[in-house]
Amino acid sequence: MKETMRGLNQGNIQNLNRSLLLNLLRREKVCARTALAEHSGLKQATVTHIINDFMNWNLVKEVGLLTGVKGRRSIAISLNTEDLAVAGIRIARQNFSVGLFNLYGEAVMIRRTSIKHGQNAREIMDMVFHAMDKMIRQFPDKKILALGLAIPGPYNRVKGRISVVTEVEGWADIPLKDEFMEHYKIPVIIEEHANAAALAQFWYSKETNNTDVLVYVAFAQGIGAGIVNNGALLTGSTGAAGEIGHTTIDIHGPRCSCGNYGCLEGYCSSITFVKKLNEAFGKKDELTFSDAVLLVRKKDPTAVKLYMEMCDYLSIGIINVINSFNPRAIVIGDEMAHVNPTLMLERVISNVQKRVVPQTMETTSIRLSSYKQDSMVYGAAIIAINDIFQNPAYYFDPEQDPQGTDGTLHSHFRNVRFSL
Ligand SMILES: [Zn+2]
Repeated sequence: MKETMRGLNQGNIQNLNRSLLLNLLRREKVCARTALAEHSGLKQATVTHIINDFMNWNLVKEVGLLTGVKGRRSIAISLNTEDLAVAGIRIARQNFSVGLFNLYGEAVMIRRTSIKHGQNAREIMDMVFHAMDKMIRQFPDKKILALGLAIPGPYNRVKGRISVVTEVEGWADIPLKDEFMEHYKIPVIIEEHANAAALAQFWYSKETNNTDVLVYVAFAQGIGAGIVNNGALLTGSTGAAGEIGHTTIDIHGPRCSCGNYGCLEGYCSSITFVKKLNEAFGKKDELTFSDAVLLVRKKDPTAVKLYMEMCDYLSIGIINVINSFNPRAIVIGDEMAHVNPTLMLERVISNVQKRVVPQTMETTSIRLSSYKQDSMVYGAAIIAINDIFQNPAYYFDPEQDPQGTDGTLHSHFRNVRFSL
């Protein structure tokens, strides 16, 4: 029978409380048990019990003394950043990044590698493994708990594969989750890259409450959106929600590789931008994205005009997002957003204000991503950390909880160490 509704038993409640305390520790960085009880509303005894588990698991550490408001000194707790880490990988169309991160989502190391035009998915996968393996070998003392992977196309979580990536051949044939799990023997969490970045933005956002909707819009080599609702990603039934790049903005437009016609990303991606710029200057693919960025920054009128055109199309996508999800915050990021953030934001906000119902606009803020181009490699790390925080027993005490959030049996990973 398909389980559609389930009650909360003691184990689930304990997991929720553990998750709550881990997220408080993440937010506060260093915190005493009394403060954790105060912030969480949990009884002191419950907090003590859970922190004891965390200490036994080496998930948190006591890091000295904190002085409270009445001058009382209490023991400070923090997440164990010395020994524990997660791996984050972001694969984009023209480059990929690999990184190691602590449990606060702070980078230990990030490396970015370019992808040459025409390289297929299999070749890219080999390069990714090579770069990640090399980095892991540099930190032999770190225990890597999970791997987060942010990918550029709609990810079908049922099949464990990317559905389609415009511009790169072969992704749909690769069982990503299986291959990464096989190689690293740790849980692998995969999200479409805008989803990963949306969760990262939500984690660090000061303007949104837990109940708010935040939408991250990736303005890059494709256009995607990640939607966070009630603190969790809205992924859709199979993981393909938020694919605004494949919403039609012209029914008579050109055919897209997804099968649809006149898709948004065909009009305003960085790839389209470079293509149009080459056309405008009568060049044959000689100008690169870096050249395009320089031209806009030097205020070349043709380049600026084209960039504004891209921003106009993006605005239409954002207006559709606002009307669909009524978000509190829209965060625009990735490489196209950072070409000239001031111009981009001014243009988008002005377009949106002209076309969205004023009452809706009053409660919606539109801003630039707080990370630069590589926000999604942080996002990749955060989806991994989020998985650990949602179900720490799965990672640290498999006898207590052998089944993870995605239903993967922990027995796959028990007592397995890296052997690269
Ligand atoms: Zn499409």
